[in-house]
Amino acid sequence: MKYDYLIVGAGLFGTVFARQAYEKGKKCLVIDKRDHIGGNVYTEKIEGINVHKYGAHIFHTNNKDVWDYVNRFVTFNRFTNSPVANYKGELYSLPFNMYTFNKMWGVVTPLEAIKKIEEQRKEIKGEPTNLEEQAISLVGRDIYEKLIKGYTEKQWGRDCKELPPFIIKRLPVRFTFDNNYFNALYQGIPIGGYTKLIEKMLDGIEVRLNTDFLINKQEFENIAQTIIYTGPIDAYFDYSLGALEYRSVRFENELLDIENFQGNAAVNYTDRETPYTRIIEHKWFEFGKDENNNDIKKTYISKEYSSEWKPGDEPYYPVNDEKNGALYEEYYKLSKDEKNVIFGGRLGEYKYYDMDQVVAKALETADKCLLS
Ligand code: FAD
Ligand code: UDP
Repeated sequence: MKYDYLIVGAGLFGTVFARQAYEKGKKCLVIDKRDHIGGNVYTEKIEGINVHKYGAHIFHTNNKDVWDYVNRFVTFNRFTNSPVANYKGELYSLPFNMYTFNKMWGVVTPLEAIKKIEEQRKEIKGEPTNLEEQAISLVGRDIYEKLIKGYTEKQWGRDCKELPPFIIKRLPVRFTFDNNYFNALYQGIPIGGYTKLIEKMLDGIEVRLNTDFLINKQEFENIAQTIIYTGPIDAYFDYSLGALEYRSVRFENELLDIENFQGNAAVNYTDRETPYTRIIEHKWFEFGKDENNNDIKKTYISKEYSSEWKPGDEPYYPVNDEKNGALYEEYYKLSKDEKNVIFGGRLGEYKYYDMDQVVAKALETADKCLLS
Protein backbone atom coordinates (compact mmCIF):
# COMPACT_ATOMS: atom_id res chain seq x y z
CA MET A 1 0.00 0.00 0.00
CA LYS A 2 1.22 3.43 -0.90
CA TYR A 3 0.15 5.20 2.31
CA ASP A 4 -0.18 4.28 5.97
CA TYR A 5 -3.09 6.69 6.38
CA LEU A 6 -5.62 8.21 4.04
CA ILE A 7 -7.23 11.13 5.84
CA VAL A 8 -10.57 12.18 4.42
CA GLY A 9 -11.21 15.81 5.33
CA ALA A 10 -8.67 18.61 5.83
CA GLY A 11 -10.66 20.08 8.73
CA LEU A 12 -9.26 20.32 12.23
CA PHE A 13 -9.70 16.64 13.07
CA GLY A 14 -8.07 15.36 9.89
CA THR A 15 -5.27 17.89 10.10
CA VAL A 16 -4.32 17.16 13.71
CA PHE A 17 -4.40 13.43 13.06
CA ALA A 18 -2.25 13.84 9.94
CA ARG A 19 0.29 15.96 11.82
CA GLN A 20 0.65 13.38 14.59
CA ALA A 21 1.01 10.50 12.16
CA TYR A 22 3.48 12.42 10.00
CA GLU A 23 5.63 13.22 13.03
CA LYS A 24 5.73 9.51 13.82
CA GLY A 25 7.12 8.91 10.32
CA LYS A 26 3.89 7.63 8.79
CA LYS A 27 3.08 8.25 5.16
CA CYS A 28 -0.15 10.23 4.93
CA LEU A 29 -2.42 11.51 2.19
CA VAL A 30 -5.03 14.12 3.12
CA ILE A 31 -7.92 14.69 0.73
CA ASP A 32 -10.80 17.15 0.81
CA LYS A 33 -13.67 17.65 -1.53
CA ARG A 34 -13.56 21.42 -1.02
CA ASP A 35 -11.10 23.62 -2.88
CA HIS A 36 -9.34 24.65 0.34
CA ILE A 37 -7.96 23.23 3.56
CA GLY A 38 -9.31 23.89 7.07
CA GLY A 39 -12.88 22.63 6.83
CA ASN A 40 -15.17 24.96 8.73
CA VAL A 41 -12.39 26.91 10.42
CA TYR A 42 -11.10 28.15 7.05
CA THR A 43 -10.33 31.88 6.90
CA GLU A 44 -9.66 33.90 3.76
CA LYS A 45 -7.94 37.26 3.61
CA ILE A 46 -10.12 39.97 2.02
CA GLU A 47 -8.94 43.61 2.02
CA GLY A 48 -6.53 42.79 4.85
CA ILE A 49 -9.27 41.17 6.97
CA ASN A 50 -9.16 37.47 7.87
CA VAL A 51 -12.72 36.48 7.05
CA HIS A 52 -14.15 33.45 8.87
CA LYS A 53 -15.79 31.95 5.80
CA TYR A 54 -17.90 29.38 7.65
CA GLY A 55 -18.92 31.51 10.59
CA ALA A 56 -17.26 33.05 13.64
CA HIS A 57 -14.68 30.78 15.25
CA ILE A 58 -13.21 31.59 18.65
CA PHE A 59 -10.81 29.08 20.11
CA HIS A 60 -11.45 28.49 23.80
CA THR A 61 -10.41 25.69 26.09
CA ASN A 62 -9.65 24.58 29.62
CA ASN A 63 -7.37 21.87 28.32
CA LYS A 64 -3.77 23.02 28.66
CA ASP A 65 -2.43 20.22 26.47
CA VAL A 66 -4.72 21.28 23.64
CA TRP A 67 -3.82 24.95 24.09
CA ASP A 68 -0.09 24.18 24.12
CA TYR A 69 -0.53 21.97 21.07
CA VAL A 70 -2.17 24.60 18.85
CA ASN A 71 0.26 27.25 20.10
CA ARG A 72 3.12 25.16 18.74
CA PHE A 73 2.10 26.22 15.25
CA VAL A 74 0.87 29.82 15.55
CA THR A 75 0.52 32.59 18.10
CA PHE A 76 -2.97 33.34 19.35
CA ASN A 77 -4.18 36.86 20.11
CA ARG A 78 -6.06 37.91 23.26
CA PHE A 79 -9.52 38.08 21.68
CA THR A 80 -12.32 37.52 24.20
CA ASN A 81 -15.75 36.82 22.83
CA SER A 82 -18.44 39.18 24.18
CA PRO A 83 -21.35 39.20 21.75
CA VAL A 84 -24.09 41.78 22.00
CA ALA A 85 -27.75 40.79 21.69
CA ASN A 86 -30.04 43.07 19.70
CA TYR A 87 -33.70 42.55 20.54
CA LYS A 88 -35.78 44.92 18.42
CA GLY A 89 -33.21 47.66 18.87
CA GLU A 90 -32.62 47.06 22.59
CA LEU A 91 -29.01 46.00 23.20
CA TYR A 92 -28.08 43.46 25.88
CA SER A 93 -24.76 42.11 27.04
CA LEU A 94 -24.07 38.38 26.57
CA PRO A 95 -23.65 35.87 28.09
CA PHE A 96 -26.18 36.46 30.85
CA ASN A 97 -24.42 38.62 33.44
CA MET A 98 -25.01 41.62 35.69
CA TYR A 99 -25.01 44.04 32.72
CA THR A 100 -27.79 41.95 31.13
CA PHE A 101 -29.84 41.78 34.34
CA ASN A 102 -29.44 45.51 34.97
CA LYS A 103 -30.68 46.37 31.47
CA MET A 104 -33.54 43.84 31.63
CA TRP A 105 -34.88 44.64 35.10
CA GLY A 106 -33.02 47.68 36.43
CA VAL A 107 -31.56 45.53 39.23
CA VAL A 108 -28.24 46.72 40.60
CA THR A 109 -26.92 44.08 42.97
CA PRO A 110 -26.38 40.34 42.43
CA LEU A 111 -28.88 39.61 45.24
CA GLU A 112 -31.58 41.58 43.43
CA ALA A 113 -30.84 39.71 40.19
CA ILE A 114 -30.93 36.32 41.92
CA LYS A 115 -34.24 37.22 43.57
CA LYS A 116 -35.76 38.19 40.22
CA ILE A 117 -34.67 34.91 38.62
CA GLU A 118 -35.83 32.88 41.64
CA GLU A 119 -39.32 34.39 41.25
CA GLN A 120 -39.47 33.64 37.54
CA ARG A 121 -38.10 30.13 37.65
CA LYS A 122 -40.85 28.99 40.04
CA GLU A 123 -43.00 28.08 37.05
CA ILE A 124 -40.67 25.15 36.31
CA LYS A 125 -41.35 22.18 38.55
CA GLY A 126 -38.78 19.40 38.74
CA GLU A 127 -35.90 18.67 36.40
CA PRO A 128 -36.14 20.56 33.04
CA THR A 129 -36.95 18.20 30.18
CA ASN A 130 -36.47 20.55 27.22
CA LEU A 131 -34.62 23.73 26.25
CA GLU A 132 -37.49 26.06 27.15
CA GLU A 133 -37.79 24.70 30.68
CA GLN A 134 -34.02 24.67 31.08
CA ALA A 135 -33.71 28.28 29.92
CA ILE A 136 -36.48 29.56 32.22
CA SER A 137 -35.00 27.65 35.10
CA LEU A 138 -31.57 29.22 34.46
CA VAL A 139 -32.50 32.86 33.80
CA GLY A 140 -36.27 33.28 34.07
CA ARG A 141 -39.01 33.91 31.53
CA ASP A 142 -38.16 37.55 30.57
CA ILE A 143 -34.68 36.69 29.35
CA TYR A 144 -35.97 33.51 27.74
CA GLU A 145 -38.58 35.46 25.74
CA LYS A 146 -36.26 38.28 24.64
CA LEU A 147 -32.84 36.74 24.27
CA ILE A 148 -33.28 32.98 23.82
CA LYS A 149 -36.57 31.88 22.26
CA GLY A 150 -36.36 33.72 18.91
CA TYR A 151 -32.65 33.12 18.38
CA THR A 152 -32.84 29.45 19.26
CA GLU A 153 -35.88 28.77 17.11
CA LYS A 154 -34.20 30.51 14.16
CA GLN A 155 -30.96 28.64 14.69
CA TRP A 156 -32.47 25.20 15.11
CA GLY A 157 -35.70 25.56 13.12
CA ARG A 158 -37.50 23.81 15.96
CA ASP A 159 -39.64 24.83 18.89
CA CYS A 160 -37.66 25.28 22.11
CA LYS A 161 -39.86 22.61 23.69
CA GLU A 162 -38.54 20.08 21.18
CA LEU A 163 -34.87 20.78 21.81
CA PRO A 164 -32.69 19.13 24.46
CA PRO A 165 -31.80 21.13 27.60
CA PHE A 166 -28.02 20.77 27.18
CA ILE A 167 -27.81 23.18 24.22
CA ILE A 168 -28.56 26.17 26.43
CA LYS A 169 -26.36 24.95 29.27
CA ARG A 170 -23.41 25.82 27.02
CA LEU A 171 -23.97 29.47 27.95
CA PRO A 172 -22.66 30.79 31.27
CA VAL A 173 -24.95 32.64 33.71
CA ARG A 174 -22.98 34.97 35.96
CA PHE A 175 -23.83 37.29 38.79
CA THR A 176 -20.74 39.38 38.10
CA PHE A 177 -19.99 42.09 35.54
CA ASP A 178 -18.07 39.63 33.37
CA ASN A 179 -19.21 39.41 29.76
CA ASN A 180 -16.69 36.83 28.58
CA TYR A 181 -18.88 34.41 26.60
CA PHE A 182 -16.79 31.40 27.54
CA ASN A 183 -15.77 29.83 30.81
CA ALA A 184 -12.34 28.96 29.56
CA LEU A 185 -8.86 29.40 30.91
CA TYR A 186 -7.47 29.96 27.42
CA GLN A 187 -9.05 31.87 24.55
CA GLY A 188 -7.98 33.60 21.36
CA ILE A 189 -7.79 33.68 17.58
CA PRO A 190 -4.72 32.60 15.61
CA ILE A 191 -2.89 35.74 14.49
CA GLY A 192 -3.10 35.66 10.70
CA GLY A 193 -6.22 33.45 10.71
CA TYR A 194 -7.04 29.77 11.13
CA THR A 195 -5.88 28.87 7.63
CA LYS A 196 -2.35 29.71 8.75
CA LEU A 197 -2.69 27.28 11.66
CA ILE A 198 -3.89 24.51 9.34
CA GLU A 199 -1.16 25.26 6.78
CA LYS A 200 1.49 24.96 9.46
CA MET A 201 0.09 21.65 10.66
CA LEU A 202 -0.05 20.25 7.14
CA ASP A 203 3.51 21.35 6.36
CA GLY A 204 5.28 18.47 4.59
CA ILE A 205 2.12 16.38 4.18
CA GLU A 206 0.61 15.51 0.80
CA VAL A 207 -2.82 17.15 0.31
CA ARG A 208 -5.25 16.76 -2.59
CA LEU A 209 -8.13 19.22 -2.82
CA ASN A 210 -11.31 18.98 -4.92
CA THR A 211 -11.22 15.25 -4.25
CA ASP A 212 -14.33 13.47 -3.02
CA PHE A 213 -13.62 10.19 -1.26
CA LEU A 214 -17.13 8.86 -1.78
CA ILE A 215 -16.96 9.25 -5.56
CA ASN A 216 -13.78 7.17 -5.82
CA LYS A 217 -14.25 5.06 -2.70
CA GLN A 218 -12.96 1.79 -4.11
CA GLU A 219 -9.80 3.31 -5.50
CA PHE A 220 -9.06 5.11 -2.24
CA GLU A 221 -9.75 2.04 -0.12
CA ASN A 222 -6.82 0.33 -1.79
CA ILE A 223 -4.17 2.96 -1.30
CA ALA A 224 -3.87 3.12 2.47
CA GLN A 225 -3.70 0.73 5.42
CA THR A 226 -6.09 2.83 7.47
CA ILE A 227 -8.65 5.48 6.57
CA ILE A 228 -9.54 8.36 8.86
CA TYR A 229 -12.95 9.53 7.71
CA THR A 230 -14.21 12.93 8.93
CA GLY A 231 -17.14 13.43 6.54
CA PRO A 232 -20.78 12.73 7.47
CA ILE A 233 -21.19 9.18 8.77
CA ASP A 234 -24.53 8.65 7.02
CA ALA A 235 -23.03 9.70 3.65
CA TYR A 236 -20.27 7.10 4.11
CA PHE A 237 -22.93 4.39 4.26
CA ASP A 238 -24.81 5.91 1.34
CA TYR A 239 -27.67 6.89 3.69
CA SER A 240 -28.63 3.20 3.84
CA LEU A 241 -30.46 3.62 7.17
CA GLY A 242 -31.89 7.02 6.24
CA ALA A 243 -30.42 10.53 6.39
CA LEU A 244 -29.37 12.14 9.66
CA GLU A 245 -30.57 15.72 10.04
CA TYR A 246 -28.18 18.66 10.10
CA ARG A 247 -28.57 22.38 10.34
CA SER A 248 -26.94 24.36 7.61
CA VAL A 249 -25.88 28.00 7.55
CA ARG A 250 -25.87 30.50 4.71
CA PHE A 251 -23.96 33.76 4.75
CA GLU A 252 -24.73 37.03 3.02
CA ASN A 253 -21.44 38.87 2.82
CA GLU A 254 -20.77 42.54 2.23
CA LEU A 255 -17.59 44.58 1.96
CA LEU A 256 -18.45 48.06 3.23
CA ASP A 257 -16.55 51.23 2.59
CA ILE A 258 -16.79 52.32 6.24
CA GLU A 259 -14.46 51.67 9.14
CA ASN A 260 -16.91 50.47 11.74
CA PHE A 261 -20.31 48.88 11.14
CA GLN A 262 -21.38 47.57 14.55
CA GLY A 263 -18.44 48.07 16.92
CA ASN A 264 -18.22 44.39 17.83
CA ALA A 265 -17.31 41.08 16.20
CA ALA A 266 -20.72 39.53 16.81
CA VAL A 267 -24.19 40.96 17.26
CA ASN A 268 -26.97 38.39 17.76
CA TYR A 269 -30.47 39.30 16.55
CA THR A 270 -32.60 37.55 19.11
CA ASP A 271 -36.09 38.45 17.89
CA ARG A 272 -38.04 36.05 15.68
CA GLU A 273 -38.74 38.58 12.88
CA THR A 274 -35.17 39.43 11.76
CA PRO A 275 -34.43 36.59 9.33
CA TYR A 276 -30.74 36.18 10.20
CA THR A 277 -29.41 35.00 13.56
CA ARG A 278 -26.35 37.22 13.78
CA ILE A 279 -24.04 39.63 12.00
CA ILE A 280 -20.31 39.06 12.18
CA GLU A 281 -17.93 41.97 11.58
CA HIS A 282 -14.73 40.06 10.97
CA LYS A 283 -12.12 42.78 11.49
CA TRP A 284 -12.84 42.90 15.25
CA PHE A 285 -11.48 39.38 15.73
CA GLU A 286 -8.10 41.03 15.22
CA PHE A 287 -8.96 44.43 16.73
CA GLY A 288 -9.44 46.16 13.38
CA LYS A 289 -5.72 45.99 12.59
CA ASP A 290 -3.89 44.47 9.65
CA GLU A 291 -0.70 42.41 9.94
CA ASN A 292 1.39 45.60 10.19
CA ASN A 293 -0.79 46.87 13.03
CA ASN A 294 -2.41 49.56 10.85
CA ASP A 295 -6.13 50.34 11.11
CA ILE A 296 -8.09 48.70 8.33
CA LYS A 297 -10.19 51.31 6.53
CA LYS A 298 -12.96 49.06 5.20
CA THR A 299 -15.03 46.43 6.88
CA TYR A 300 -16.47 43.04 5.93
CA ILE A 301 -19.70 41.74 7.43
CA SER A 302 -21.59 38.45 7.19
CA LYS A 303 -25.24 37.98 7.97
CA GLU A 304 -25.79 34.41 9.13
CA TYR A 305 -28.96 32.59 8.14
CA SER A 306 -29.74 29.20 9.55
CA SER A 307 -31.57 26.57 7.50
CA GLU A 308 -32.47 22.90 7.47
CA TRP A 309 -29.85 20.88 5.62
CA LYS A 310 -30.80 19.26 2.32
CA PRO A 311 -28.61 17.17 0.00
CA GLY A 312 -26.06 19.40 -1.72
CA ASP A 313 -25.80 21.87 1.22
CA GLU A 314 -22.88 21.91 3.64
CA PRO A 315 -23.87 20.11 6.85
CA TYR A 316 -22.80 22.35 9.77
CA TYR A 317 -24.50 21.31 12.98
CA PRO A 318 -25.64 17.81 13.94
CA VAL A 319 -29.15 17.94 15.37
CA ASN A 320 -28.80 16.31 18.75
CA ASP A 321 -32.36 15.28 19.43
CA GLU A 322 -33.61 11.81 20.34
CA LYS A 323 -34.60 10.74 16.85
CA ASN A 324 -31.24 11.62 15.33
CA GLY A 325 -29.35 10.26 18.32
CA ALA A 326 -31.01 6.89 17.84
CA LEU A 327 -30.28 6.82 14.11
CA TYR A 328 -26.66 7.80 14.75
CA GLU A 329 -26.33 4.82 17.14
CA GLU A 330 -27.35 2.52 14.28
CA TYR A 331 -24.74 4.04 11.97
CA TYR A 332 -22.19 3.80 14.78
CA LYS A 333 -22.80 0.06 14.99
CA LEU A 334 -22.23 -0.24 11.24
CA SER A 335 -19.04 1.79 11.53
CA LYS A 336 -17.61 -0.72 14.01
CA ASP A 337 -17.65 -3.37 11.25
CA GLU A 338 -15.45 -1.23 8.98
CA LYS A 339 -12.20 -2.68 10.22
CA ASN A 340 -9.66 -0.27 8.73
CA VAL A 341 -11.75 2.92 8.96
CA ILE A 342 -11.83 5.33 11.90
CA PHE A 343 -14.67 7.85 12.01
CA GLY A 344 -13.82 11.17 13.63
CA GLY A 345 -14.82 14.81 14.02
CA ARG A 346 -18.08 16.69 14.12
CA LEU A 347 -19.60 14.91 11.15
CA GLY A 348 -17.91 11.52 11.47
CA GLU A 349 -19.10 11.21 15.08
CA TYR A 350 -22.24 13.34 14.65
CA LYS A 351 -21.36 15.35 17.76
CA TYR A 352 -21.67 19.05 18.54
CA TYR A 353 -17.92 19.38 19.20
CA ASP A 354 -16.08 22.66 19.70
CA MET A 355 -12.66 23.04 18.15
CA ASP A 356 -10.77 22.19 21.32
CA GLN A 357 -12.76 18.98 21.74
CA VAL A 358 -11.99 18.06 18.15
CA VAL A 359 -8.28 18.64 18.71
CA ALA A 360 -8.36 16.60 21.95
CA LYS A 361 -10.23 13.75 20.27
CA ALA A 362 -7.90 13.73 17.25
CA LEU A 363 -4.83 13.65 19.52
CA GLU A 364 -6.33 10.80 21.52
CA THR A 365 -7.25 8.86 18.36
CA ALA A 366 -3.76 9.38 16.96
CA ASP A 367 -2.19 8.18 20.22
CA LYS A 368 -4.26 5.01 20.18
CA CYS A 369 -3.54 4.27 16.50
CA LEU A 370 0.13 5.08 16.60
CA LEU A 371 0.84 3.09 19.73
CA SER A 372 -0.87 -0.04 18.46
P1 FAD B 1 -15.02 19.95 9.44
O1 FAD B 1 -14.38 21.25 9.68
O2 FAD B 1 -16.43 19.93 8.97
O3 FAD B 1 -14.11 19.15 8.39
C1 FAD B 1 -14.56 18.04 7.68
C2 FAD B 1 -13.94 18.12 6.27
O4 FAD B 1 -14.24 16.91 5.58
C3 FAD B 1 -14.51 19.26 5.45
O5 FAD B 1 -13.47 20.08 4.95
C4 FAD B 1 -15.24 18.55 4.31
O6 FAD B 1 -15.16 19.23 3.07
C5 FAD B 1 -14.48 17.22 4.24
N1 FAD B 1 -15.26 16.14 3.65
C6 FAD B 1 -16.49 15.74 3.99
N2 FAD B 1 -16.88 14.71 3.19
C7 FAD B 1 -15.85 14.46 2.35
C8 FAD B 1 -15.66 13.55 1.31
N3 FAD B 1 -16.60 12.66 0.96
N4 FAD B 1 -14.50 13.55 0.64
C9 FAD B 1 -13.52 14.45 0.95
N5 FAD B 1 -13.66 15.35 1.93
C10 FAD B 1 -14.80 15.36 2.63
N6 FAD B 1 -15.98 25.78 17.65
C11 FAD B 1 -15.33 26.49 18.59
O7 FAD B 1 -14.53 25.93 19.34
N7 FAD B 1 -15.52 27.86 18.71
C12 FAD B 1 -16.37 28.54 17.91
O8 FAD B 1 -16.52 29.76 18.05
C13 FAD B 1 -17.09 27.81 16.91
N8 FAD B 1 -17.94 28.44 16.09
C14 FAD B 1 -18.61 27.72 15.15
C15 FAD B 1 -19.47 28.41 14.30
C16 FAD B 1 -20.15 27.73 13.30
C17 FAD B 1 -21.09 28.47 12.38
C18 FAD B 1 -19.96 26.32 13.17
C19 FAD B 1 -20.68 25.55 12.10
C20 FAD B 1 -19.09 25.64 14.00
C21 FAD B 1 -18.41 26.33 15.01
N9 FAD B 1 -17.51 25.68 15.84
C22 FAD B 1 -16.85 26.40 16.80
C23 FAD B 1 -17.21 24.23 15.72
C24 FAD B 1 -16.02 23.94 14.78
O9 FAD B 1 -16.29 24.43 13.49
C25 FAD B 1 -15.79 22.42 14.73
O10 FAD B 1 -15.58 21.89 16.01
C26 FAD B 1 -14.60 21.98 13.87
O11 FAD B 1 -14.41 22.80 12.75
C27 FAD B 1 -14.84 20.56 13.43
O12 FAD B 1 -13.73 20.07 12.69
P2 FAD B 1 -13.90 18.73 11.87
O13 FAD B 1 -12.57 18.43 11.28
O14 FAD B 1 -14.54 17.69 12.71
O15 FAD B 1 -14.99 19.02 10.73
N1 UDP C 1 -28.44 31.21 22.35
C1 UDP C 1 -29.50 32.07 22.54
N2 UDP C 1 -29.31 33.40 22.34
C2 UDP C 1 -28.13 33.92 21.96
C3 UDP C 1 -27.04 33.04 21.79
C4 UDP C 1 -27.24 31.69 21.98
O1 UDP C 1 -30.60 31.63 22.86
O2 UDP C 1 -28.04 35.15 21.78
C5 UDP C 1 -28.69 29.77 22.55
C6 UDP C 1 -28.98 29.01 21.25
O3 UDP C 1 -29.95 28.03 21.56
C7 UDP C 1 -27.68 28.35 20.92
C8 UDP C 1 -27.15 28.03 22.32
O4 UDP C 1 -27.55 29.15 23.11
O5 UDP C 1 -27.87 27.18 20.16
C9 UDP C 1 -25.66 27.85 22.37
O6 UDP C 1 -25.06 29.02 21.87
P1 UDP C 1 -23.61 29.02 21.26
O7 UDP C 1 -23.23 30.41 20.97
O8 UDP C 1 -22.76 28.19 22.14
O9 UDP C 1 -23.87 28.24 19.89
P2 UDP C 1 -22.86 27.92 18.68
O10 UDP C 1 -23.22 28.91 17.61
O11 UDP C 1 -21.46 28.05 19.18
O12 UDP C 1 -23.21 26.53 18.30
